[in-house]
Amino acid sequence: MRCRSRLEFVVFSLLIILTVHTFSAGFIYPIKNVKPRITSTFGEYRPSMTEDNPHFHMGVDLSTAYRSGVPILSITDGYIMRVDVDDNDIYGYTVYVVHDEKYILMYAHLSDFSEKLKYFAESVKREFGNRRVEIYFPKDILKVEKGETIGYSGETGEAIAPHCHLEIRSLDGKRSIDPVEIVDSLPKPNAQLEILGIRINGEDEEVGRTVHTFEGDQALIEVNARLKTDTNVLGIDSIEMYIDDTKVYEMKFDEIDLSDFNKADELFGRRSNASNYWYKLYASEELSMVKLNKLPDRFPGSSYVRIIVEDDWGRKKTLKFKLVRR
Ligand SMILES: [Zn+2]
Repeated sequence: MRCRSRLEFVVFSLLIILTVHTFSAGFIYPIKNVKPRITSTFGEYRPSMTEDNPHFHMGVDLSTAYRSGVPILSITDGYIMRVDVDDNDIYGYTVYVVHDEKYILMYAHLSDFSEKLKYFAESVKREFGNRRVEIYFPKDILKVEKGETIGYSGETGEAIAPHCHLEIRSLDGKRSIDPVEIVDSLPKPNAQLEILGIRINGEDEEVGRTVHTFEGDQALIEVNARLKTDTNVLGIDSIEMYIDDTKVYEMKFDEIDLSDFNKADELFGRRSNASNYWYKLYASEELSMVKLNKLPDRFPGSSYVRIIVEDDWGRKKTLKFKLVRR
């Protein structure tokens, strides 16, 4: 009897270990021997160096300690769908891996490709010179395993310093999805969520005031928010605004339609730049990240406003004030 329960215990423990293993085995972190660190989040504002319009940051950036040539590992199993050989566009050298017939994982700004892919990249370069080339592979021809090196970190394309840009697209290629929502191996940054500024109808207001005033029918509000780490500034994940306890606006960077890529100026206020983000609380619901815009055509003469800012890891900051028409 004792023996049996011991055996049951062992079997049970094994089951737990197997279960835990299965859950944690989803995705590995793509960089070894560098402290895991997110240096940019999904949805950040990006002034473009080569195009007129600024764009949204469609993935996360991961530190390679500013080094090129660091092996970038496939975070999961899949097959290579496409390789871009181009030093001049936004993404630079990029590898696309299809996982589970569900996601396309993109690794961008690479300095070089794995041995397997180098052969193809070099032969097209010989053929086409420095022109942009996209190489497409049939399904399952070039498989990759979790942990396999697919390329080396670099700063091709619009990268200011060497890093790994990890992006996740839907299989139809129409949407980019916040990697933090899918990849469980991404580290939570040690950071403070901050609201630095508030503007109402274009006028700067002091953050923390209990009463703000406005003129006209509507109060169009912008907030300057960020996630501040010891070394850099990250974008936030969502903002909600309530007027007298009714939710009137909600924005969330869970996914971004690729057709919205160049519409960053519609969501961000005009004083935004690469590390300073003014979020409009009145952007159109036609943008994929704007979940709700039900601002009243005429705001009440006096109301209570609550603005809740949240980061990707559940940290929240709330602004509460009375809003009065002048
Ligand atoms: Zn990036």
